[in-house]
Amino acid sequence: MQVLFVASECAPFIKTGGLADVVSALPKALRGEGVDTRVLLPGYAALGDLLDAASEVARFTDPVHGTTRLIAVEADGQHLILLDAPHLFDRSGNPYLGPDGLDWPDNAQRFAALAAAGAWIAREGLAGWRPDVLHAHDWQAGLAPAYLRLRGDDEVATLTTVHNVAFQGIFPVTTVPQVGLPWSGYHPDGFEYYGSIGYLKAGLAYADRITTVSPTYARELMSPEFGMGLQGVFSARRDAFSGILNGVDAQVWNPATDKALDATYTADTIERRVRNKRALEKRFGLETTDDAPLFCVVSRLTRQKGLDLLLTALPRLLARGARLVVLGSGDADLEVGYGEAAAAHPAQVGFQLGYDEPLSHLMQGGADSILIPSRFEPCGLTQLYGLRYGCLPLVGRTGGLADTVIDANSASLATGVATGFQFAPITTAWLADAVERACDVYADQAAWRRMMQRAMAQPVGWDNSAKAYSALYEAVRRERR
Ligand code: ADP
Repeated sequence: MQVLFVASECAPFIKTGGLADVVSALPKALRGEGVDTRVLLPGYAALGDLLDAASEVARFTDPVHGTTRLIAVEADGQHLILLDAPHLFDRSGNPYLGPDGLDWPDNAQRFAALAAAGAWIAREGLAGWRPDVLHAHDWQAGLAPAYLRLRGDDEVATLTTVHNVAFQGIFPVTTVPQVGLPWSGYHPDGFEYYGSIGYLKAGLAYADRITTVSPTYARELMSPEFGMGLQGVFSARRDAFSGILNGVDAQVWNPATDKALDATYTADTIERRVRNKRALEKRFGLETTDDAPLFCVVSRLTRQKGLDLLLTALPRLLARGARLVVLGSGDADLEVGYGEAAAAHPAQVGFQLGYDEPLSHLMQGGADSILIPSRFEPCGLTQLYGLRYGCLPLVGRTGGLADTVIDANSASLATGVATGFQFAPITTAWLADAVERACDVYADQAAWRRMMQRAMAQPVGWDNSAKAYSALYEAVRRERR
């Protein structure tokens, strides 16, 4: 089985969120299922060293974008194919935003080129390698199934995965001829979206199957509350639509070997974790105490993540003597809010603005609990890392958070199955209640320790989900034949 991933991010090369982790880890897990995956990525400036090391494998002439080079390179155990189009991708910084913080004005052209390259590889093959399945990730790859089907290519099967429906790639209707799409697809069952063109909509309309990253989010996407305008499309395609949970890269996220930790540990040597907690306290300048939990947040600072709720719940957290360390960046008001909270309560609150991969590992390995009060969360990865590191997740009951954390209520504590804390509805008051419940359980150190060990024993790797994707690839390939 040969599968081409078309995606805009892949860790560790280029990452703004969980998509990059999935695109990096899933191909490695699929190898165990006999699936040979290549990942097509834009040749961003940030991939400069790779671009230099790579060899050209093809040139394709797209009617819209001109002649473009495809180059192949192996790095970090991955087979990458890079779309070397300097006029589109040789720009520094974020893949989607210019230095002014706004979307690049030619994002429609940039990601149409990526999708067109994916469709071209699916049709023509690349140096003797041709995929059985094209797997498009998110809106940036959404046009790939449309390019194939609308040009009458029916051989290669296609799958679109939605990692977050909040990002849909909606562009003016004038884009249609610019990116070489036929008007025959401009209708409500095609890529038309309320008078515009929707790249994700195209991916949903033309793919053989659709997946998203958790079973609960799949159900939620069919409702107006979560579908963000696409609920009708998800519902119409419900027979071709399913949710498969993301996993974690068990090599990158392994507390027994993690070089970012002061002290590595296993479930049997969990007491060693305290050294990481001390390192975190020092790093954030907090007081040292074991009387109440040290909570952490590692996140984009946005409303989706519910971090405005946490700011308003903070007084109740502090009143219990608990502490909070926050790593992230995002909305200006939240960045200011957490900065001010840290300045007002330096012994109890620490804030680091920005993106820091090693620190994110130390936080998972040292904090007692990770707070994820998301209003919606397709899958979420940080709660999975939290489980694996014994940093008990405290989460809003939505999407993948609902599917992966077992709430510590009296029944689950008594039967010994709890792995974290859930709350719903997702409001400040219920969040603060859950924080207080966590403080109560923490006061019983033996119970907390049992929960940590149970959390660490949860199967959060890719094994089950890689099998599910592999079965889906087989099914769509069979149907195309
Ligand atoms: P999303 O993709 O919606 O941002 P996920 O939980 O799926 O959320 O994935 C977020 C990923 O980004 C995780 O790997 C998390 O550890 C990482 N991350 C988020 N913010 C930061 C940060 N400020 N520093 C380091 N890693 C971060």
